Amino acid sequence: MTSPPAGPPVDLRSDTVTRPDARMREAMARAEVGDDVLDGDPTMRALEEEIARLLGTEDALWVPSGSMGNLIALCVHLERGDRFLAPDRAHILDHEVGTAAWLAGGMPRALPWTAGPGAPSPSDITRAVAHGGPYFALRDRLLCLENTHNAAGGTVTAPREHRRLTDAAHDAGLLVHLDGARLWNAAVALGVPPADLAEGADSVQVCLSKGLGAPVGSVLAGGTEFVREARRVRKMLGGGVRQGGILAAAGLVALERVERLAEDHDHARLLAAGLAERGWETTTPQTNIVMLPVDDPRHTVAVLAARGVLTVPTDAGVRMITHCDVSRHDVLRAVESFPPPGARPAGRRP
Ligand SMILES: *Cc1c(COP(=O)(O)O)cnc(C)c1O
Repeated sequence: MTSPPAGPPVDLRSDTVTRPDARMREAMARAEVGDDVLDGDPTMRALEEEIARLLGTEDALWVPSGSMGNLIALCVHLERGDRFLAPDRAHILDHEVGTAAWLAGGMPRALPWTAGPGAPSPSDITRAVAHGGPYFALRDRLLCLENTHNAAGGTVTAPREHRRLTDAAHDAGLLVHLDGARLWNAAVALGVPPADLAEGADSVQVCLSKGLGAPVGSVLAGGTEFVREARRVRKMLGGGVRQGGILAAAGLVALERVERLAEDHDHARLLAAGLAERGWETTTPQTNIVMLPVDDPRHTVAVLAARGVLTVPTDAGVRMITHCDVSRHDVLRAVESFPPPGARPAGRRP
């Protein structure tokens, strides 16, 4: 077995591990601020207006995290006991501590991936909605979409499919929330404006703290009425921040970095190709996520960590995410660090 190349670990656990650089920290230090809970913060407002413009919505609201953004949307859209639909293994179903149920009162229903990894089809939505059931039937209120779909491996929904899904939902009497934690990645991968992927959604959550590199913050966008209610729920959850301009300033710098996500996508392809060359079976990345289907993800993650490559186990295998703090050189170093096929500790043979 060759020894892994020396150097600091290559951190592919998530694009949330990115650290703000000097320019971002400087913008934060110099941000004009107010009291956003009392009567507004100018930098916060500038960020919210810019995101509303980019997503083509009437208004937008800064929130501390993507999870809180999703939760606020569900609290606004759902009443206790209402059902919401979401693609199987959506973040909102599996990775938000069940807040959709215990805080927003929603009963989840997972939709199958009929139209490809992470993607339900319009007829799945139509079929799932129980029309004219007895009085004890659940009321279907909301469809939650996820673009890109994280657990499916950063898969992209194109505007046409997105539109067909939102149309099917609206025809069935549902509202639509879009978990766009990585909507920027989808937009860059498809070469379309983010607004094309938000069209028809009644609310959209986008993250600034993933591939765009801000230390904190998401934005929840939608119509004027929706955002007014969302602001009340944010306060209820303790998510109002006073001199938030310091955080919003990082978000404004993050927005300048949307186009550079293309580099992360290149790196993900480079990583997948390199691993395939070494005999590993990987998914073909559509954005910045590479999935390695292995039989024993925890063991593989531990072996890789010992060789200086940090990854995370999922129920489908080992997940690796490229981001702005991982260079081309780091990707090549990570590939070199993988045990060769013969010495592979776990995993299926191609
Ligand atoms: C990361 C993520 C979130 C939640 O964002 P946090 O800021 O970590 O709370 C929501 N949805 C998806 C798809 C994500 O990947």
